[in-house]
Amino acid sequence: MNVEFSPELEAFRAEVAEFFATAPTPAIREAGRKTTSVFAPFDQCMEWHKILAKKGWAAPHWPVEYGGTGWSVEQRFIFAEEYRKADLPPLLPQSLGMVGPLLIDIGTEEQKAKYLSPILAGEDFWAQGYSEPGSGSDLASLQCRAEPDGDDYIINGSKIWTTYAHHANRMFMLVRTDNSGKKQQGITFLLLDRVDYPGMEIRPIVGLDGVPEQCEVFFDNVRVPQSGRVGEENDGWSVAKHLLKHERGGSASSPTLVHYLDRAKEAAAKTPSPFGGMLADDPVFQSEFGELHADVASLGHMEKLAISGHPIANDPAFPSLNKTINSELLQRASTLMSKVSGVGGLARQLEALRVGSNVEPLGSEFDLISMPLYLNSRAASIYAGSNEVQRDLISRSLAAGV
Ligand SMILES: Cc1cc2nc3c(=O)[nH]c(=O)nc-3n(C[C@H](O)[C@H](O)[C@H](O)COP(=O)(O)OP(=O)(O)OC[C@H]3O[C@@H](n4cnc5c(N)ncnc54)[C@H](O)[C@@H]3O)c2cc1C
Repeated sequence: MNVEFSPELEAFRAEVAEFFATAPTPAIREAGRKTTSVFAPFDQCMEWHKILAKKGWAAPHWPVEYGGTGWSVEQRFIFAEEYRKADLPPLLPQSLGMVGPLLIDIGTEEQKAKYLSPILAGEDFWAQGYSEPGSGSDLASLQCRAEPDGDDYIINGSKIWTTYAHHANRMFMLVRTDNSGKKQQGITFLLLDRVDYPGMEIRPIVGLDGVPEQCEVFFDNVRVPQSGRVGEENDGWSVAKHLLKHERGGSASSPTLVHYLDRAKEAAAKTPSPFGGMLADDPVFQSEFGELHADVASLGHMEKLAISGHPIANDPAFPSLNKTINSELLQRASTLMSKVSGVGGLARQLEALRVGSNVEPLGSEFDLISMPLYLNSRAASIYAGSNEVQRDLISRSLAAGV
């Protein structure tokens, strides 16, 4: 089906496409092409963030008074579509998509004044310190402890899977401030102004794809000011849940998936099929591609409804539904890409993947990225809350509505 946009929207599309064709540096473009995760290469990603911020386009989803664009749902979708077509690095979600919207919703005026504009400008990057060894799905069991001491808290314990903590300059985290009562009741939400406090140590973890993206973070008597608390002491669970709504819903993933499918189709048209002709003409490829395309289109429709403020987005099950569907589609799309590459994708080429490297990839650039993307996206059904747990939440919400 072809949807026609008004001439004004087409003019907006042309303006966005023109900016994307001219504003990024070659290194930013290379980083976009070599992004094999939700998380783009850090340096070029932040450089691109700053360019978008100067243009006023870093946070289209924020309210205008805090630096958002005030775009209509169609404009936001067109922006996301052109972004993916231009193959530019996605901006990192923790600051713009999580702690920023949280502070806009429930931060104090002082916290908003201090933190929002450096997030928007791309000067600050926040890591998310929720999970601990033994506390992921069962997050409320977390044990990293903060003891009040004068105007400060003293933190002891550890966090794990903290994405890009080794690049971050700030961190938001959950700490245990009380052990009596229900486990959800003694948690507090804290903003850390630095990640290099004395006693704090960050150790990167190398992932399946060979890239260090996640980290362990250790706290040994780390003193942080209590002024970084969001909400009341021991009421961090409700703050954490509010942030998770922003983490799991409200974004537009379908343009990225469409882009991956386009790349798979383009590569399949150049790949000989073992049964003769090209892979793109093979009925098995076409059937898998067609099914995925239809499912991605359905997700796109749901995302447009959500962005437009449709009541579906207020359903408590919506963030879980959105997260489950888009992570599964990402895994299916990257599986299709790796099938197209076949053995061409098997070589481990970490140096060729590095932005700025002068090592030429073996095979095509598509082959270079397909396997790391496949491996990295295995984690999509785990991070932001595993899909099994999301299904549980969806079923509970449905049962409550019966
Ligand atoms: C790539 C990546 C990036 C991440 N980034 C961050 C980050 O930046 N910050 C952060 O704080 N955390 C981060 N995480 C952590 C992530 O949120 C947790 O890994 C996730 O919540 C799952 O918790 P777990 O790893 O402890 O698994 P577990 O909870 O031990 O789960 C193991 C398995 O048991 C299943 N399971 C558990 N409970 C139930 C249940 N009640 N019913 C059915 N099945 C169940 C799970 O679905 C899963 O399959 C990241 C994780 C990954 C993999």
